[in-house]
Amino acid sequence: MKQVHNFNAGPCVLPKEAINAAIEALKDFSGTGMSVIEVSHRSKEWQAIMDETEALWKEILNIPDGYKVLFLGGGASTQFLMVPMNFLNKKAAYLKTGVWAKKAHKEAEGLAKAWGVEAACVASSEDKTFNYIPKGYTIPTDADYFHITTNNTIYGTEIREDIDCPVPLIADMSSDIMSRPVDVSKYTLIYGGAQKNVGPAGVTFAIVKESALGKVEHYIPTMLNYQTHVEGSSMFNTPPVFSILVMNYTLKWLKKLGGLKVMEQINKEKSELLYNEIDRNSMFVGTVANKEDRSRMNHCWVMAPGHEDLQDEFMEFAKSKGMVGIKGHRSVGGFRASLYNACPKESVEALVACMQEFEKMHK
Ligand SMILES: *Cc1c(COP(=O)(O)O)cnc(C)c1O
Repeated sequence: MKQVHNFNAGPCVLPKEAINAAIEALKDFSGTGMSVIEVSHRSKEWQAIMDETEALWKEILNIPDGYKVLFLGGGASTQFLMVPMNFLNKKAAYLKTGVWAKKAHKEAEGLAKAWGVEAACVASSEDKTFNYIPKGYTIPTDADYFHITTNNTIYGTEIREDIDCPVPLIADMSSDIMSRPVDVSKYTLIYGGAQKNVGPAGVTFAIVKESALGKVEHYIPTMLNYQTHVEGSSMFNTPPVFSILVMNYTLKWLKKLGGLKVMEQINKEKSELLYNEIDRNSMFVGTVANKEDRSRMNHCWVMAPGHEDLQDEFMEFAKSKGMVGIKGHRSVGGFRASLYNACPKESVEALVACMQEFEKMHK
């Protein structure tokens, strides 16, 4: 198999161990003589995987009692709608730090309009192509909830602090979940698509505080109601079995590695390695305005002034060295390298070496 350095933004690199275990389960699942995609989701072998996967989430992320971990379909994008459906009564509040945050706000705005209530935008960094995290904003104390996007995958900014929030805090953690410890008790809901740090596309996680549910008066469509899935333990309807199984294997890999404190340290080292090179290398410049806002997952940079014409050449050069997925999102341009949990340090070293060699070629 061709050896590459995978910096894709999502779906993205996953632990080899998880992929190999999944290949085995596709052939014979838990000694059943059937593939995992052939067994009943009501079988005891499958139930064991559901229970174990939730237990792994609770253990690794240190989730307190009173929270349920759900495994749903529909992606993070369906959560954008489920959030206001389940929590919006009179007023929602959103922090707009990127395109995903904007999309989440749009769903709340749509429902708020239909219901004659409010979906406020507390602060936005859209004025500067979302290249910073707004600070010093005031969260309205009469809001039903405050929604944030902890990691802005496209722009490479991140909120790593578990903020003190006067109202229920809801976070889209699609692209930085399990990259560091999180104080779950500060959140009413944490959700995300699995396909960046915890598994393949097809399963969506939602960590929900059970006591916060059932507080709206309007009808919530069955499949969009968190309570449906809490009561059905994520098996109200057929769950995305294969994606959940790969998630299970990915979490076991993370646990074996030493958990989130160890993972955070590794992520910090990988991230610093790349940012140090972006800052040192005369050919390149980072796109995030303030260093403290920089994401440890997605690293964005462009050609330095005077070298813009070399962009395509660097892209080709990097490709020839085995780099995959470093093209920046069209709204930012330049380059983006996503260093998710499973991205090995050797890949980051290879990318840095490639940037250094390119600089030498043009000096
Ligand atoms: C990728 C991503 C999404 C979209 O997830 P889907 O599962 O494709 O709907 C939402 N929010 C963030 C922060 C993302 O990175």
